[in-house]
Amino acid sequence: MQAWDLTSYALPGVYLHIPFCEAKCHYCAFDSRPVVGEDVDAYCDALVRQIRRMAAHPWCRQRRFSTLYVGGGTPTVLGRERLCRVLEAALHCFAFAKPVEVSVEANPNTVTADLLAHLRQAGGNRLSIGVQSLDDRLLVRLGRRHTAAQGVAAVEAARRAGFANVSVDLIYGLPGQTARDWRQTLAAVLALDVEHLSLYELSVDPGSRFHQRPPALPPEDEVVAMNGITAELTAAAGMERYEISNYCRPGFACRHNLNYWRNGDYLGLGAGAVSCFGGLRLRAVGDPALFVRRLRAGEPVWTEGEALSLAARFRETVVMGLRCTAGLDLRWLRQRFGIDIHAFYGDALARLIEAGYLVADRERLCLAGHVVPVANRVLAELV
Ligand code: SF4
Repeated sequence: MQAWDLTSYALPGVYLHIPFCEAKCHYCAFDSRPVVGEDVDAYCDALVRQIRRMAAHPWCRQRRFSTLYVGGGTPTVLGRERLCRVLEAALHCFAFAKPVEVSVEANPNTVTADLLAHLRQAGGNRLSIGVQSLDDRLLVRLGRRHTAAQGVAAVEAARRAGFANVSVDLIYGLPGQTARDWRQTLAAVLALDVEHLSLYELSVDPGSRFHQRPPALPPEDEVVAMNGITAELTAAAGMERYEISNYCRPGFACRHNLNYWRNGDYLGLGAGAVSCFGGLRLRAVGDPALFVRRLRAGEPVWTEGEALSLAARFRETVVMGLRCTAGLDLRWLRQRFGIDIHAFYGDALARLIEAGYLVADRERLCLAGHVVPVANRVLAELV
């Protein structure tokens, strides 16, 4: 069985959301806000309170979890004490199956040797570093607050602190970026010998500064060339693409994210975090101050709840499962939902197979290799 086989992870994950950053990047439409002026101590107190409260909930008490992921925002902006406190609270309160994967997102200018050493001691064993580019000119255009040298230094510091599983996030298709620039950045990151890469094409999303003032993006043929370079360099470095945007060395797929793509259950804690379990999807209030007030008052923090129909869950499982290059195990899908995929989608699925966008046999359905770079257009047909 491949390490990223979608059927091999059955336990839910826990996600902790830290909604603060040093400043807002120009492309960012995530749920994050500048940390200045925020009551970060009160937020961490409330998050620990929610961790304890949810761990005592009957749904959680009877369960074991497989992964813990601290994301944001920029978790490392909390500083050593606060970050270790929330991490330790979650590891202490929830029952995790061993070996547990504990990922923490970090930005290069918010990590120090001291913080990383304490993070390892507190139980962190996977660091995901938002390097984004190794070109200072492009980092400025993105509104990032760190340099290329700080990106490299953060990876090296993670190694010295004992992280044996390091992931780097990069963005390509940046304003003013050429295929040659991308080759230089990717080659330099691969030379750092990281275990995992997340490579995203820049998208201009509503809510971001770029959306208000759109930058001039590279022409399509330049982006196609960048995709070719990615395939060439990652393969030469022995990294396998296991999801549309994610590459790893054997055995280093992100287990937490595999659970999402498998459409497994997960518990999201913190302001704006989403939870999904047993077909119920809940979202917590996004405003950190309101989140704190609700927790202090002993009130529920959920603002949205949705009971998903069987058909909706089936559709989501198909679309997310196809993001993984291993594709969908059709027997597992039938067993889980009691639904035959061909009967469910009928002609729409048959057309995609006939056109060569999807490859099917009796047991598996996958995206064809040549459509992976434009996968979202194909998957939209199945939503
Ligand atoms: S660091 Fe990440 S979450 Fe924070 S503003 Fe930048 S892109 Fe958004």
